[in-house]
Amino acid sequence: MAWNSIIGQLRAKRIVRTAISSGRVPNAWLFTGPEGVGKDAIAIEVAKALRCERLGQNAEPCGTCHGCLTVAELQNPNVQFVFALPSGKGEDTRSDSPMLKLSDNEIALIREEVAKKARDPYHNISIPRAQQIKISSIRQIKRDVALSTAELGTRIVIISEAHQMRSEAANAFLKTLEEPSPKTVLILTTSYPERLLSTIVSRCQEVRFDLLNDEELVLAFQERNTADATTAALTAKLAGGSYSKGVELLQGDLRQVRFDIVSFLRGALKRSPVAAHREIERVTSTGDRTHLERVLGLLALWLRDAYALRLTGNESIIVNQDQLDDIKSFNDKFASAPTELMIGHVERSIKAIRRNVQPPLVLTVLAMQLADACFLPQEGHGSSLVIP
Ligand SMILES: [Zn+2]
Repeated sequence: MAWNSIIGQLRAKRIVRTAISSGRVPNAWLFTGPEGVGKDAIAIEVAKALRCERLGQNAEPCGTCHGCLTVAELQNPNVQFVFALPSGKGEDTRSDSPMLKLSDNEIALIREEVAKKARDPYHNISIPRAQQIKISSIRQIKRDVALSTAELGTRIVIISEAHQMRSEAANAFLKTLEEPSPKTVLILTTSYPERLLSTIVSRCQEVRFDLLNDEELVLAFQERNTADATTAALTAKLAGGSYSKGVELLQGDLRQVRFDIVSFLRGALKRSPVAAHREIERVTSTGDRTHLERVLGLLALWLRDAYALRLTGNESIIVNQDQLDDIKSFNDKFASAPTELMIGHVERSIKAIRRNVQPPLVLTVLAMQLADACFLPQEGHGSSLVIP
């Protein structure tokens, strides 16, 4: 059951399970790969396997012993889960313990985030003002490692997003790495290995994590987030291989956004400046560029559906299943619309948003380009409106 709870990552799982079951776990592992693909989740599973009292074949933790349960709750005294914390008021980062000078509110929030991580190892811990892994956290690791004994069994230290160690903390950590204790396994996870000291990287055994594929994501969204088939398929297309990015999308108002897209397209294709303007104001009202990128990503996906349906006539390959009627009526009305060209316009708009061009400007130009593409004779698509 335990390893089954990990989404995809067959290669990474095989590497760590083989190491555990053959008793060849390195002193330090470095899990690298994109955000939200399960690096922390596998690190926690490794800790479970190393602390399990009834470890099964192929490093399968039993899931019910004291070791398994306390690791899963992130409450096992021999498993430390280290992450970035805010600095407290008047804190002496060198001598104070990491939580000593934090306010009650901050401590409560941190506890809550740890509890969320325990419930869902794919949860991204997010604490305001927590920008770095404190040197005091690293010193604590050092002290605990020194106290390790054979009777206590293997101690596991997981440093989540290890690139958040700044130079002082990283150098202190390097010392711990240089004096390996046979009773301690260090696991560093990071999406930005290039930000780690090369001396740290060279002392760890790296395991690279892959992006999750659409099939794995669709299944995960359906099983874990009770998404319906259409939402799961759409989210997988937009999540770019990251489960946690997909969950963020699911928590946002994906459905509303998708209907906004149809309204935007309708406004643009009505060639009614008022209608188009109203939609543009609505879509850009949050001022959030990431949101707008997603909106445009969904628009490109919608147009791809229209294109695919026109080419194949096969309704089952459409991602936006619940908007099939709109897609069909678009295809009927604009039977010769150059959808590929339109998708190109949308993709250039996404790039413009990333380059910090003003969102209302980008969408106004896009609305005109889409209308031109649909209404002007085929040769006339080379609209003069181009965002520099
Ligand atoms: Zn167990």
